[in-house]
Amino acid sequence: MRFRLTEEEERFQREVSQWCQEEVPAQLRERPILGNHYILGAGAVGDITDADYQLIKQFTLKLGEKGWLRIGWPEEYGGIRMSPVERAIISEELRRHRGWHIRMADLPGMIIAHGTKEQKDYWLPSLGRGEIATCLVLSEPDAGSDMANCKCRAVLEGDHFIVQGMKHYLSQAQRADYGQLLVLTDPEARKRHGLSRFICDMHAPGVTVRPMLDMAGEVELNEVWFDDVRIPKDWLIGTLNECWLEMNMDAPVGGVGAGTSIDPFDAFIDYCKETYRNGKPLSKDPEVRRKLAHLAIDHAVMTQISWQGLSNNQRNFGKPRKAVTPQSVGGGIQSVGASTLPMISKEWNPRFAQAVMEIMGPVGLLSAGSEWAPLEGWAERHYRMRGFETHAHGTIEVLKMVVATRGLGLPRGPGS
Ligand SMILES: Cc1cc2nc3c(=O)[nH]c(=O)nc-3n(C[C@H](O)[C@H](O)[C@H](O)COP(=O)(O)OP(=O)(O)OC[C@H]3O[C@@H](n4cnc5c(N)ncnc54)[C@H](O)[C@@H]3O)c2cc1C
Repeated sequence: MRFRLTEEEERFQREVSQWCQEEVPAQLRERPILGNHYILGAGAVGDITDADYQLIKQFTLKLGEKGWLRIGWPEEYGGIRMSPVERAIISEELRRHRGWHIRMADLPGMIIAHGTKEQKDYWLPSLGRGEIATCLVLSEPDAGSDMANCKCRAVLEGDHFIVQGMKHYLSQAQRADYGQLLVLTDPEARKRHGLSRFICDMHAPGVTVRPMLDMAGEVELNEVWFDDVRIPKDWLIGTLNECWLEMNMDAPVGGVGAGTSIDPFDAFIDYCKETYRNGKPLSKDPEVRRKLAHLAIDHAVMTQISWQGLSNNQRNFGKPRKAVTPQSVGGGIQSVGASTLPMISKEWNPRFAQAVMEIMGPVGLLSAGSEWAPLEGWAERHYRMRGFETHAHGTIEVLKMVVATRGLGLPRGPGS
């Protein structure tokens, strides 16, 4: 099946592209690609300097003015209605023009779905204007895939919860103003009960953010220590001790969604066509062609799945969301649809990075900044980044388990 934009959608795409050309700061637009620097819904990653970050903050305010940070929000909070395809177009165009925004998607979905009116009135306006940078404060050393094993404690004392504990692998926590924090509020409760979610002030006394140098040599992740941190009790979002199910029911909002993702595969194919070795283009070399053909097949599958997901969402646009129940949620927090594509791409990406290095040869090792580095040093960084990305947003094994049990109806394995 071929998926295509309608004429109206193509017109919208041209408008968004035009807006990006006019509004994205030139300093960002002209930066090299450097791997997977995609920002919407995820926040800026990688080697973003403080000066860049200021530009990103300013550009985020423009997105706020445009209303694109409030797509799908309730009307009374300035929400605007857009179809999944329109969201994907915005996301795609912003990415193409390096229209990066600060990370801000960790709070609105939770507040809109589970917050009180007072909480919505308090938090949503500034989030919708793009004034608050956020982070997700869930993972702990013994609570990654098994998030319900959370040990970070919060105890009610008067008008405040006092938080004690540690979290790690937190993306962009060093830039965040507020975080979505998961804590244990009832240690006696059965597993998956006794957990609660709060908004935490990342600058509050007792919060220590320590950067973690990752294996790619970059600092995107952080460990965060909470030492008797006081959180106002009305910053509890949702039901005390029973946030597990609620985590699956957050409103599907928060900036512009990921949409169909462009990856550098096409750029690499062009590179193979344009780069000559021993008097002929790399793309004419039978060994290179064999490698590219293998990658292209999987790439086509991923593209198709991505479009199919978008097309399904488009068809269901405006219909009520299917209710989430304890039975449909099971033990985890991810859905089949959301698990299939990352599962495939997490296996494909390292194969792609390896093949790129083999095809490029030694020049592939040159990093950004070198005048001889092909594709602005993208290959070198892409190769370095692949190792740890397999863990972000759920590991391959966990994603496979979700697809097997909830997608294919297979029985759960021992211990899962
Ligand atoms: C780049 C990056 C960004 C991240 N950003 C954030 C963030 O912003 N906020 C946040 O809270 N966390 C974040 N994380 C943490 C991430 O959510 C965890 O790394 C992830 O959930 C896996 O947990 P873990 O690292 O503790 O590995 P573990 O859960 O300890 O897993 C170790 C290994 O055991 C396997 N395994 C575990 N359980 C099972 C099972 N039941 N069956 C089969 N195999 C299993 C896993 O697949 C894996 O190979 C980030 C991680 C990375 C790498």
